[in-house]
Amino acid sequence: MEIKDYMTQFIEDYYREDHNYEEMPAIQLVEQNTFVELSNLDFPEEGKPVEEMIDVLRHKVYPNRSVGEHPRNFAFIPAPIEEVSKLGDLVNLFYNPNACGWYPSSGTASIEHALINWLCEQAGYSEESSGIFVSGGSSANLTAAIAARDSKLKADDINKGIAYISNQAHHSVNKALHVIGIPEERIRRLKTDENLKIIPEDLTTQVNKDLANGLKPFLIIGTAGTTNAGVIDPLKELAELAEEYNLWLHIDGAFGASLLLSNENRHLVDGLELADSITWDAHKWLFQTYSCAMLLVKNRSSLLHSFSDQPEYLDDAHQADRTDFWDLGIELSRPARGVKLWLTIQTLGTKKIGEQIDYGIELAEYTEVQVKKANHWQIVTPAQTAIINFRYFDDKHTEEELNAINTMLSEKMTSTGYAQVLTTKLNGVTVLRMCTLSPLTKHQDIEKTINDLNQIVLDQVK
Ligand SMILES: *Cc1c(COP(=O)(O)O)cnc(C)c1O
Repeated sequence: MEIKDYMTQFIEDYYREDHNYEEMPAIQLVEQNTFVELSNLDFPEEGKPVEEMIDVLRHKVYPNRSVGEHPRNFAFIPAPIEEVSKLGDLVNLFYNPNACGWYPSSGTASIEHALINWLCEQAGYSEESSGIFVSGGSSANLTAAIAARDSKLKADDINKGIAYISNQAHHSVNKALHVIGIPEERIRRLKTDENLKIIPEDLTTQVNKDLANGLKPFLIIGTAGTTNAGVIDPLKELAELAEEYNLWLHIDGAFGASLLLSNENRHLVDGLELADSITWDAHKWLFQTYSCAMLLVKNRSSLLHSFSDQPEYLDDAHQADRTDFWDLGIELSRPARGVKLWLTIQTLGTKKIGEQIDYGIELAEYTEVQVKKANHWQIVTPAQTAIINFRYFDDKHTEEELNAINTMLSEKMTSTGYAQVLTTKLNGVTVLRMCTLSPLTKHQDIEKTINDLNQIVLDQVK
């Protein structure tokens, strides 16, 4: 069969046999014999038939994954996807433009540019804003950290630069700081309050202390929707502080910035427009396939300052309708990651996307109601931004035993394949965490997941 005929065959097979989420486990790991087989497949001198190798991929490789779009995948930040996102990816893949700039791909540059402007508008940014599509939240955080360093620190001061993050910040933030030359000793990891938010007074105290010691505070990184608990830091207070001390404010909204498109919950991220830069993952809560994320900046000139090689960049900043993305970020050759998001928004419409985001929030609240029905559960953080944390609790067991029980509950639940519920640590205790983003999740899915957890408690906890 010719490859091009096999393409359509594959798509048919996929939708007929590989797409039924109800019947597949939420997570499956490669078994030992499959691992051995895959590891030992030779790389042949003479090619093998494509059918045979696609069969290996379909039956031995891809079934072994955490199915991000599964209606009962409540682990990490799951990745529910709109089918139209796959289509957008596929279309772009076929044309394979090098979306690095205007000349190589002025068509995709036009729509990516328009989409970035629209997203900036949703964030409440002015016309001076801009941004770029990147591979993920980690790259967006890194790009922001570079812009922050270049805009706030003189070259001679980099080895005195201080960045402020919270103990709930995502580890990609640490990584980004290390990459830009800020080692652990110059990262102030602030304790959070009882709601796991940054305490602005503590931050002020720390900044003053660092200034008094001749150090150079330059960057605050807050989070809109922490990965652990969906917490949104006090955005307006952080912005005031950043303004007062002339620091860059970056908000990592990899997960929570999608609230900007929600109808009922947008107010939760009021103040985001005050940040100098915003990370926003579309492959989390905007229902896109990997990889698709955005970095938005309040001032386009800050990205040009860090990434453009052309001294005349400041003039260019004012005629922003022609876009060479190589001037705004790290990559040169890049796929047009924005096309699938563009297609999704064009075809679903903003109203439906907003409703789907609100539905995720409602599902976490529904989970909280179900959890509260049995009295052996303790709510550790309430449903917020579609995440809830709870744990098995009684006064017969020590803290250590309780931690082990909660780990066991997660393992037993997940090993059935019915639902994936993992643990996290909050204030030193092990908790069960559920993140409910999928528009495919039904209330019965939540009920049965909690019932199954209850049953494991009855069977296993003595
Ligand atoms: C997921 C996440 C990231 C990292 O994003 P990737 O797209 O996985 O690189 C960063 N920050 C937060 C808050 C996240 O939830």
